Amino acid sequence: MDHFQLRNGELYAEDVPVERIARAVGTPVYVYSRATLERHARVFREGLSDVAHKHLAFAVKSNPNLAVLGVLKRQGYGADVVSEGEMKRALTAGMPAEDIVFSGVGKSRRELAAALEAGIGQFNLESEEEGVELAEIAAAQGRTASAALRVNPDVDAGTHAKISTGKADNKFGVAYHQAGAIYRRLSGLEGLAMRGLAVHIGSQITNLDPSRAAFTKMGELMRALRAEGCTVTHMDLGGGLGVPYRAGERLPGPQEYGAMIADVTSGWDAVLMFEPGRVITGNSGVLVTEVIRVKPGVTAPFVVIDAAMNDLARPALYDAWHDFMAVQPTGERMSAHIVGPICESSDTFATNRDIDTVKAGDLAVFRTAGAYGATMANTYNSRALVPEVMVDGDKWAVVAERIEPETIFAAERVPDWLQ
Ligand SMILES: *Cc1c(COP(=O)(O)O)cnc(C)c1O
Repeated sequence: MDHFQLRNGELYAEDVPVERIARAVGTPVYVYSRATLERHARVFREGLSDVAHKHLAFAVKSNPNLAVLGVLKRQGYGADVVSEGEMKRALTAGMPAEDIVFSGVGKSRRELAAALEAGIGQFNLESEEEGVELAEIAAAQGRTASAALRVNPDVDAGTHAKISTGKADNKFGVAYHQAGAIYRRLSGLEGLAMRGLAVHIGSQITNLDPSRAAFTKMGELMRALRAEGCTVTHMDLGGGLGVPYRAGERLPGPQEYGAMIADVTSGWDAVLMFEPGRVITGNSGVLVTEVIRVKPGVTAPFVVIDAAMNDLARPALYDAWHDFMAVQPTGERMSAHIVGPICESSDTFATNRDIDTVKAGDLAVFRTAGAYGATMANTYNSRALVPEVMVDGDKWAVVAERIEPETIFAAERVPDWLQ
């Protein structure tokens, strides 16, 4: 359920006509719904109501906008961050440092030191080497770092290869069969307080069986470590729950996910940690675009829009599907390719798609664009960086301005010796 609905034949974001925002801010523009964000945050938490002790850390990389983080903070969410930049965003949004989990396969010395100084609640270590380095830095600062060891359970999440992270040949975590020995060695280091295990097998997970298999393996490892006298009080089960990208698609939701978790983790006696991203933000945003023109093609017409792969990269990166709909649909349909203006053939959002009939000047949206949308945007082809708007009832505000090419190239320098 989201709050982007047709009213009298026109698309609204909550109580605001999408056209009003598009005319005021220009296109392309992302529009987020506060009510939808809050609803998803609440439904995810409610799905886990059978879990006694839990910590919810929103995966900032899915949508790092400060206004979005502010909404989630008010819903009691902490943050899962994967860079110093994301950490600064979460802190700036007012999330308490102890509610922040620092993940990521390549945390630099500088990032580890900065996160220690900020008092970050948990470091998810991706290797023994990282743990040793963190322990050294912490001991030198006179601090103790709380940490979990990320384990690669060698389970196929059954998602797109580029967003699968839990197979043995993925770069994430330590090998399952080595994890026990590494955990034991790290537990003995001064400056480090090992408190748990972490796992995250991938994103856009639409079948819960691989997650169940991975969590079951993690439970066995937890028990083995405890039997050897190691402290394991926290189990971080990552994120990854998928969302429907096509109207009418039925996927396991937070309710089914929560039931699976409650079943697998019964008797664990640990604080369970979660890092949801897409399931919170995905359906909370749309990308609004204007049709530049409709160009005849050999097999089907090309609907050329003013949004491109630099604004929404998922179709080009992952062959991802985003539903496309006119802001003022006429009821007529057409079959078309939907393409952006960028000089790459991968700047294609859809081929031979049955869509609302549109013509030059019409507004349309890509749905389910709130996750991995604006956050991946760039300025390729010297296009502006796409702006973001948040709607709240009948109010709306720009929450990220459009950054024009002049602002980007103002940071570039031509050295004297070229002049
Ligand atoms: C990307 C990521 C997440 C969030 O994934 P979603 O599919 O957006 O829920 C959580 N944890 C880690 C470690 C990640 O890399």
